[in-house]
Amino acid sequence: MAPLRTIRDIDPQGKRILLRVDFNVPIDEQGNITDDARIRKEVPTMQYLIERGAQLIIISHLGRPKGKPVEILRLDKVAQRVSELLNRPVKKIDECVGDIAKQTVGAMQNGDIVMLENVRFYPEEEANDDVFAKKLAGQCDIFVNDGFGVSHRPHASIYGIGSRLTAYAGFLIEKEIAAMQPILEHPEKPFVLIIGGAKIKDKVGVIEKLSETADHILIGGGPANVFFAAQGKEIGQSLCDKDWIEMAQGLLAKTAPGQIVLPCDVVTARETSDTATTEIHESTNIPSDTKILDIGPKTIEQFTNIIKTAKTILWNGPQGLTEYAPFQNGTRAVAQAIVESKAFSVIGGGDTGEVLDSLGFSENQFSHVSTGGGASLEFLSGKELPGIKILYSDYTPSAS
Ligand code: ADP
Ligand code: MG
Repeated sequence: MAPLRTIRDIDPQGKRILLRVDFNVPIDEQGNITDDARIRKEVPTMQYLIERGAQLIIISHLGRPKGKPVEILRLDKVAQRVSELLNRPVKKIDECVGDIAKQTVGAMQNGDIVMLENVRFYPEEEANDDVFAKKLAGQCDIFVNDGFGVSHRPHASIYGIGSRLTAYAGFLIEKEIAAMQPILEHPEKPFVLIIGGAKIKDKVGVIEKLSETADHILIGGGPANVFFAAQGKEIGQSLCDKDWIEMAQGLLAKTAPGQIVLPCDVVTARETSDTATTEIHESTNIPSDTKILDIGPKTIEQFTNIIKTAKTILWNGPQGLTEYAPFQNGTRAVAQAIVESKAFSVIGGGDTGEVLDSLGFSENQFSHVSTGGGASLEFLSGKELPGIKILYSDYTPSAS
């Protein structure tokens, strides 16, 4: 594969650099940032460019304003946080393109930082509008994409600019690819894939793709229920997306016997709360008035034993309804087993990283925790991501 173009390949001095980031941070009702991890993770790239004399223009989205200005989703507080973290002034403007943007960008000195407004205030962003992309591209000399979490989107500020200007990867995207590419292409064996979470729809691509190489596919959470249903088992009132039962049957038939490992026992309850009364049942014997809400103790032991043998682990999705204490054991045990293993471990997608955080684990206990939800799942299902494709040296921008 052609090498990735990164910011190490450019001389930032005196260049106007447009940096696409994913500063889609969680905020409270007043618009205050409640977790700035996404901004902190971008500091190395921003610092690298600024220290080398770039004129840095930052562009991001926040939330889902659906193509019109939404006051609480303005990027002023994000700009302020960037300024605090870099210990430098950041000039925030209220537009992405237009006269003010043109003037502000035109007056920049080396080392200056300008933050544009939330790019999703423009309907042209998600529509990947040509004129809009051209205006954005016209405001800079070099385009850097470091928004891994949005790289699966063919939007104007990602793909639209990247198909006009040569695009370079920032350090965050470089790190994401370095961690996940080996899993996709040549995982060191034994390779254990662990799936959980709620919506099986988002995980099917990953299960299908990685079932080509995974020695063991451990399935808990909501997806396990779909597989139980595929085997004709009673699942009571459990979460189950019936549209995928046939797919699950197909996978069970296609994979090697025992390659997919389903829970042999489960934790059930009739209500979901912190004080719920739980029962443990063999997965062949679920009462019809209960819900499956976690993997059971025998399953924890079985999963743990398999995890111990792994050289590579990819995990997406909590094993139970981790919002409530009675259903956290499976997820906690799986996390602990991964931490204790010597495997190269990647936590991909969705809420898994946040759940681990809330259970008291820290990121550095795993080899890599992806910053991208949907993006990491699409990447790991082997799809070509528009925002990543533009970064390879065999990609030549050709739009005008
Ligand atoms: P998704 O984004 O597809 O929902 P995630 O991987 O982000 O998937 O999973 C997070 C959610 O999955 C959590 O809210 C968790 O409570 C839920 N979950 C896990 N297991 C179960 C289960 N057995 N029943 C219902 N919800 C579950
Ligand atoms: Mg999720």
